[in-house]
Amino acid sequence: MSDKKERILLTQIKQDFTTPVDAISDYINLIIDSSDIYDEEISDEFENIKKSAKTLRLNFIDAFKEYAEQKNKSIKNDEEASVLRHDLRTPLNGIIGYSEILIEDYEEDISDNHKEDLGNIINLAKEVESAISNFVDFLKGGSKVDLSKQDNEGSAESLFSSLGKIEAEIKINDEIKKSKILIVDDIKTNCDVLQRRLESSGFKTEVAMSGKEALAAVDKKNYDLVLLDVLMPEINGLEVLIKAREKFDLDKLPIIMVSSFDDVESISKCLQLGANEYLPKPLNSTILLAKVAATLERKMLREREKELLSELHHQAITDEMTGIPNRRFVFEELEKNFNEIKDKNKENFAVVIFDIDHFKNVNDTYGHAAGDEIIKKVCDLAKDNIESPSIFGRIGGEEFLAIIYNSSMNYLHDLCEKIRLVVEKETTLFDNQKIKVTISGGGAFTSESLNISDLVNKADERLYLSKKNGRNKFYLKED
Ligand code: GH3
Ligand code: MG
Ligand code: MG
Repeated sequence: MSDKKERILLTQIKQDFTTPVDAISDYINLIIDSSDIYDEEISDEFENIKKSAKTLRLNFIDAFKEYAEQKNKSIKNDEEASVLRHDLRTPLNGIIGYSEILIEDYEEDISDNHKEDLGNIINLAKEVESAISNFVDFLKGGSKVDLSKQDNEGSAESLFSSLGKIEAEIKINDEIKKSKILIVDDIKTNCDVLQRRLESSGFKTEVAMSGKEALAAVDKKNYDLVLLDVLMPEINGLEVLIKAREKFDLDKLPIIMVSSFDDVESISKCLQLGANEYLPKPLNSTILLAKVAATLERKMLREREKELLSELHHQAITDEMTGIPNRRFVFEELEKNFNEIKDKNKENFAVVIFDIDHFKNVNDTYGHAAGDEIIKKVCDLAKDNIESPSIFGRIGGEEFLAIIYNSSMNYLHDLCEKIRLVVEKETTLFDNQKIKVTISGGGAFTSESLNISDLVNKADERLYLSKKNGRNKFYLKED
């Protein structure tokens, strides 16, 4: 056998052994982490499994060093082989034995989840069993290791083996604990372990076991984060990433790629395609939690930033007292829409400016607070009659402007009359005093105006005419 081939074979043998053993350790650590629900007797049995797994691994590494890594050193006779087999089988039998005892003798006491974990441990132990036979056979010179498995890199198991080695607790902000994470991986154990790790840190998780399922899930629900495996049959992780990015940007749906390709090129490709982060397999749970937490925190901060900006924007264009658009917004809209008529993107429209009559008297007679009430009342009455998309704003103390997207004189006339009458009829009670006001207004159409100031001036002039000719009326055209 060539050197290279032998090296690959050895790596395979080592991996076939360590992967299930590490997975056993992970399962048992996960159980022990939450075993405060059990009494001492049961906890001791769990500890025994943990110890056996540790011994098993140490014994294997010793043997591997002694035989496999030494050139030309092989097992000479059957006795040596059976000693080695015994050293490895003893702790393995311990694992199987303790697990079976726990499942059978403590059936009532152990939770269903943990029983399932113990079942997994027994199955993994069987994998170890065949890895031991292969190892011994190899040392005897007759390996049966299937090299075709090498391509796979045992991604599931290497991911699994890396979990559970938490050395320091990553601090997770309470606010991101409500986050919902979608785990996407075609291998169930990967999903299982990731799910439990993340859930034990307080996150909510869901699982998709194929690219297709993942795409359907992100379409249907709002996830705060997706952990996306690269290697999957049919639609792979990169394709899922590309498709997801067509709909959701990095802030809306953060995606962390998880892959055993850890070369710089693969990582940069993922980032170019729109991944927020990249996690190489085998996963280290500390790094996993740190990156998950950092990504979720960034998403939360971005969302707050956006909310704050939109709140600031709202404040900037809203009149505080009445809650309707302010002068700035109304004039910006006017400009925008006027330009759109020129570009033939919009029909002609009308503008109405109106003002409360003798408002100074209201302030002087009933006080400023009463005046404020009247402004709010007039605003509400007018607002109720002006339908979207028309725009109605407060452009001065007791002065309002409405942009009416309708160029019919009849329509405008009826609308203004309606508002004028409803204000005229209204009585406002303030401090047991009945206050009544009227309004006067002027209107103009874009079709008769050269530019915005011409339009507004025309409406203003007609408002002035209404005032001059007795108030409580609207002028909408040249008289
Ligand atoms: P006209 O019929 O000609 O419009 O007479 P007027 O008294 O309504 O008009 P004028 O412009 O002389 O007075 C408007 C008054 O509105 C002056 C100002 O103190 C008052 N005012 C402006 N903004 C507010 C406000 O927010 N609250 C109150 N209470 N008064 C305001
Ligand atoms: Mg995969
Ligand atoms: Mg006035």
